[in-house]
Amino acid sequence: MVQRLIVAGNWKMHGDRAMVDAYARELAACVEGSDHAGVGVWLFPPAPYLLSLANALAEAGAKEVSVGVQNVHEAASGAFTGEMSAAMAADCGAQLVLVGHSERRTLFGESDELVAAKARAVIDAGLTPVICVGESLDERRGGEAMARVRAQLEPVLASLAAGEVERSVIAYEPVWAIGTGETATPEIAQEMHAGISEHLLARKISARPPILYGGSVKASNAEQLFAQPDIDGALVGGASLAVTDFAGIIAAAQLKQNRA
Ligand code: PEP
Repeated sequence: MVQRLIVAGNWKMHGDRAMVDAYARELAACVEGSDHAGVGVWLFPPAPYLLSLANALAEAGAKEVSVGVQNVHEAASGAFTGEMSAAMAADCGAQLVLVGHSERRTLFGESDELVAAKARAVIDAGLTPVICVGESLDERRGGEAMARVRAQLEPVLASLAAGEVERSVIAYEPVWAIGTGETATPEIAQEMHAGISEHLLARKISARPPILYGGSVKASNAEQLFAQPDIDGALVGGASLAVTDFAGIIAAAQLKQNRA
């Protein structure tokens, strides 16, 4: 069962084995004994470190932190050199998979349809997809932000049953805010999250999945973002690489959880 409030860290292509061990110990010390029940803490390290991070977290006493991978291939197996299936990720301890991150879409040419096929493969492997959507700066300036996000969601909604969407997680990540230091204002983020919720409701997704915000989230802006009613946590890139920064974002989610 997916938690309602989630703080997820995407390490992208950063880190090494030494970081994995130190990070697990430090994070365990931060979350241990803290009142974070009800807040999901998820980490997406580079795939080679998945198993060692899962083991290091368990050894350090942070068993409740879940791990996942940043990408999978849409096929279950085959002659796809360099790729990894969702079932393989599950076999190595993944519970979660990022799908359609904007860097996959823009740098690796992933189409909306491919993203939907990957979401399907993740569900079929029994894992939880974190389906990333978000508009570019030009699309926002052109007044097309919501239309773009709806267009990204459509193939996913066509490929997953309503119950499967309800068991997934959506991450709204405006491309112009990822890794740029520029964050969407809480009002812009709330407007987009509410728009996504309405769109899902109109498509008969009655129990809407958690919708995370992503784009330069830091400990200093997380509380304001989380104060918005339709923001259910964050997908964090840069600020997830240092435990103290990441722990500050988890603490902001705990505040929201405690107020609920
Ligand atoms: C991300 O990688 O999903 C992300 C939001 O990155 P950053 O927090 O660095 O903007």
